[in-house]
Amino acid sequence: MSTSAAQVVETQESPPLSVIVVGAGLVGLAAAIALRRQGHHVDIYDASSFKVELGAGLAIPPNTVRCLLDLGCNISNLNPVENLCFTSMAYDGSTGMKSDDTDYQARYGMPWFMAHRVDLHNELRRLALENEGDGQPARLHLNCRVISCDLEACSITLDTGAVRAADLIIGADGIRSTIRSYVLGETIAIPPSHTAGFRWVTDAAALEPYPELDWIVKTVPMGARLISAPVLPKQPGAVDHRTIIIYACRGGTIVNVLAVHEDIRDQDSVAWNVSVTQKDLLDFFSDYHPKFKSLLQLADNIHIWQMRIVPPLKTWVNKHVCLMGDAAHASLPTLGQGFGMGLEDAVALGVLLPKMTPASKIPSRLLAYERLRKPRAEFIAAESFEQQHIPAKRGLYLRSIEMRDQVMGYNVRQDAERVLGELLKGEWVSSTT
Ligand SMILES: Cc1cc2nc3c(=O)[nH]c(=O)nc-3n(C[C@H](O)[C@H](O)[C@H](O)COP(=O)(O)OP(=O)(O)OC[C@H]3O[C@@H](n4cnc5c(N)ncnc54)[C@H](O)[C@@H]3O)c2cc1C
Repeated sequence: MSTSAAQVVETQESPPLSVIVVGAGLVGLAAAIALRRQGHHVDIYDASSFKVELGAGLAIPPNTVRCLLDLGCNISNLNPVENLCFTSMAYDGSTGMKSDDTDYQARYGMPWFMAHRVDLHNELRRLALENEGDGQPARLHLNCRVISCDLEACSITLDTGAVRAADLIIGADGIRSTIRSYVLGETIAIPPSHTAGFRWVTDAAALEPYPELDWIVKTVPMGARLISAPVLPKQPGAVDHRTIIIYACRGGTIVNVLAVHEDIRDQDSVAWNVSVTQKDLLDFFSDYHPKFKSLLQLADNIHIWQMRIVPPLKTWVNKHVCLMGDAAHASLPTLGQGFGMGLEDAVALGVLLPKMTPASKIPSRLLAYERLRKPRAEFIAAESFEQQHIPAKRGLYLRSIEMRDQVMGYNVRQDAERVLGELLKGEWVSSTT
């Protein structure tokens, strides 16, 4: 930041901003951390009680690790498993596997981890709510569903009828966001993607009696495996673009599996997340090699998740209200970047709203936030869809080092500080002329 720009910040005497975050998912918590560390006063409202946490793994690539460290995350609390190698395997067990053995640490200055979502949520919750650390702890209000948002009053209404106002409202309320329709001035449909994933976890100990499964957690180097079936000319009732993604998390004690496939159901007439049987799963992957099917035969507590993307929005911000995370730009998991993009949003907004930012500057800072974040996050969402659905683009992320550099080499703090420096310089010039 330039000296003149920094002076502007220091000479202002504004009180901390009051901030409402709607949604205490991974991204809402990250926003709370970034803003409390700037001295702002944060209240988080979530509709859920957090009694049922999602038992699943999450890929945490280098750009995401960079943001977690930026927010003060203690990586060892995530019980991470390092992803040292990405291996793509043929569904029929034939050779022809290709591996990406990029040294992520050397290339991007950060490793690539796999973690359990509950461990990640607990760590972010600790950083947002604990007494230690910069700024005052955020306050978390559970069982509080937000039903509306008043842009003029900068307030939300809860399902109890209570109204809460603040200087800034962040809609981090996920793909089916309530806040989004207020920011846009209309409700938009999130179209079916015709993609879904079977999702479950298995204790690594359960694999022990099956030496044919040693390749999952015993092969060195450890890493994620992708087992794809070829895209075939469409047969009636056939299921297309199938990929099973397997990796260990929680210190190698849990194996996370996501079996992505074409969703041949009418997605608008079924629930977004339903429990299914092992037979349902095996029917989809009946032509896979026995060494893969043995893993599927250990599956229980399986859910099928619809996966959709948020189409490019006309805006993410309106007055003192903004969108963040899946509410703004949910993507398919093809690139493992959904959470990472939300985390980058949170770091960027924290940088753009430093201590002593006057509330009157919020609208222009939110516009800068949108300009900085929207093109990148929407690019990722579009690629996540195209690399799943366009045959020639399948696996591009694995093949293209340029694309991985663009995604994983990015440093959002650096970019946001540059933008803030330019903004402050402009504000300083206009205040002295
Ligand atoms: C199958 C699958 C696999 C994935 N794998 C990866 C991966 O490997 N790597 C990766 O980076 N990303 C991955 N993602 C994406 C990632 O999970 C999401 O991008 C991320 O969790 C989004 O977080 P969020 O906080 O924005 O939204 P959410 O996690 O949806 O949180 C929204 C919160 O808002 C609350 N809420 C909603 N409405 C209201 C309301 N009206 N009032 C109050 N509270 C409300 C909800 O209770 C919830 O707690 C995957 C996604 C899927 C579906």
